[in-house]
Amino acid sequence: MTASGGTWRNWGRSERVRPRRVERPASPEAVQRAVEAAARSGLRIKPVGASHSFSGIAVAPDVQLDLDDLSGITAVDEATGRVTLRAGTRLFRLPELLAPLGLAMQNMGDIDRQSVAGATSTGTHGTGLGFGGLATRITGVRLVTGTGEFLTVNATENAELLPAVRLGLGALGVLVEVELELVPEFALHAAERPEPLDAVLESWTERVQGADHFEFYWFPHTSRVLTMTNTRMPLNAPLAPQHPLARFVDDELLANGAVGTVSVLGKIAPPLTPHAAKLVERALSSREWSDRSAKVYASRRAVRFREMEYALPLEEVPAAFAEVRALIERRGWRVSFPIEVRAAAPDDVWLSTAYQRPTGYIAVHRYYREDPTEYFAGVEEIMVAHGGRPHWGKMHTRTAEYLREAYPRFDDFLAVRDQLDPERRFTNPYLDRVLGA
Ligand SMILES: Cc1cc2nc3c(=O)[nH]c(=O)nc-3n(C[C@H](O)[C@H](O)[C@H](O)COP(=O)(O)OP(=O)(O)OC[C@H]3O[C@@H](n4cnc5c(N)ncnc54)[C@H](O)[C@@H]3O)c2cc1C
Repeated sequence: MTASGGTWRNWGRSERVRPRRVERPASPEAVQRAVEAAARSGLRIKPVGASHSFSGIAVAPDVQLDLDDLSGITAVDEATGRVTLRAGTRLFRLPELLAPLGLAMQNMGDIDRQSVAGATSTGTHGTGLGFGGLATRITGVRLVTGTGEFLTVNATENAELLPAVRLGLGALGVLVEVELELVPEFALHAAERPEPLDAVLESWTERVQGADHFEFYWFPHTSRVLTMTNTRMPLNAPLAPQHPLARFVDDELLANGAVGTVSVLGKIAPPLTPHAAKLVERALSSREWSDRSAKVYASRRAVRFREMEYALPLEEVPAAFAEVRALIERRGWRVSFPIEVRAAAPDDVWLSTAYQRPTGYIAVHRYYREDPTEYFAGVEEIMVAHGGRPHWGKMHTRTAEYLREAYPRFDDFLAVRDQLDPERRFTNPYLDRVLGA
């Protein structure tokens, strides 16, 4: 289906474009026709998932492919737990689709709005030193290349391309199907606790090593953090889910409500931010509950923000974090959004931020109505000095020159790009910057 396009904006309102046209293919063949048509007209073409990337990676100046109609399960291999999904399937649909199969995602990030292809193509990750990002669970894909051909990549067909296409930045083709290796459904015990920042930083390595999933949030201008520790449990263990009202009060009123209030205050009266942050710090409280994994992993983000996130060698996290804290104090910035710190296992996906190194992530956020440039630039300088790799879906200013140094297989990835998209049918200004034209 072809529609005349209005202006597209991403979730964080950091990118906008008016595509020449928007198409909404409902089958792999319709995707192929769209790529062929774009090629005949000499236009670039770009699929969009949930538009949740903060970077310009999903910007489609010419033809935008809306893949919301390319959704659902197409094949199941019960013996291996592998499920093939249409690439536009949103992550929040997975619990309902997978429940009859008794399967679940091995790990998840903070939210579940993304599409399977959008999330994996940008290196979306959760936390847990024993678990890789979402793309590491991909065992095969089917895509339409820049020359309009279908290509299957899995362990038996074109296997040498798998480390590239699992996390392809949308630069290698339009994924139409993704095969994911899932795990038997499981539950999580969640524990949230306010703790002193210094103690958490000092014990960072032990904390991430000692838990299935550990992360913490720090509100700048305070000395305490909220730690979150999730422990994997069998589904048949006794569960203690949160009462919906308690969840509403904790997540909507206290979490989203507090962040919203501090953010708006920070915008209209910046000097009040540290005071508001201290009030939030005092309101932080301990809570514990357990539930099916998907219900624990995903939360709702009601207040819009912009984000930059860097992946660091795991052991660099405490030093880099301390520098960020000192920088905020030195520069007198009033930062209303918390800094989030997570971890992930090393993997072998060429452009994964955790490629071949145990990884810690430091993410900084800014309310979407505030200009993040100065804050993000200052933090980015610190991250770069610690050997950081930027999250592809979040704001950063790195170029191909830097990324070639950061990723040992960068040139191998470019060679696959030359092979699958020789005419740069899928490029956009962001990809030109990070991969080179
Ligand atoms: C509130 C919020 C919370 C977030 N939490 C996390 C988190 O916890 N962890 C984390 O790592 N990230 C997180 N992110 C970032 C987000 O997961 C990623 O940036 C991801 O890109 C979003 O997926 P999407 O479906 O919105 O993709 P989009 O932003 O729409 O697209 C991203 C890229 O994927 C490409 N693409 C989409 N579909 C296809 C396809 N079929 N074939 C080929 N390429 C395709 C697009 O062309 C584009 O290049 C968060 C973002 C927001 C806004």
